[in-house]
Amino acid sequence: MTSDARDHLLDWLGNAHAMEKQAETLLGTAAKRIEHYPELRARIEQHIEETRGQADMLESRIQSLGGDTSTIKDFMGSAMATFHALGNALQEDEVVKVAGFSYAFEHFEIAQYRTLISAAEAIGDTETARVCSEILKQEEAMAQWCLENLEPTVLRFLERSATPDQTAKR
Ligand code: MG
Ligand code: FE
Repeated sequence: MTSDARDHLLDWLGNAHAMEKQAETLLGTAAKRIEHYPELRARIEQHIEETRGQADMLESRIQSLGGDTSTIKDFMGSAMATFHALGNALQEDEVVKVAGFSYAFEHFEIAQYRTLISAAEAIGDTETARVCSEILKQEEAMAQWCLENLEPTVLRFLERSATPDQTAKR
């Protein structure tokens, strides 16, 4: 079976759409659980809004290329497992896991959008390239925030852990 560049672009747009739908769920779960790290929670909530917009933008690109998003693809099982473990096991260092995972996840997204921009440009699909560049900026901003927030979160977690009667984990 052979596929042309347009088929690959459509396939990757579908992957990205699935990624964003799952990101929305995962971020929502994480944000709701965080109690003692208000800045982290607020930034995640802001990114949930961006993520919803990203999924909508991708859906409209997929539709205009003649694809559909009715079957959400299975995506990134290991990342899902990580977050499920987070929710289920109620780890002592939950917030540190969220902060680290978020940093990694944003870079995964950056790789997806760079791939999409290259593929869209290769076939002259300027609108898809433009949309994906717009999304890429949001992911890069979130990745940068996650980087800057990682150490403060770790330090706050350690400080709260060492303080009697304080909950550190979320
Ligand atoms: Mg995203
Ligand atoms: Fe993101």
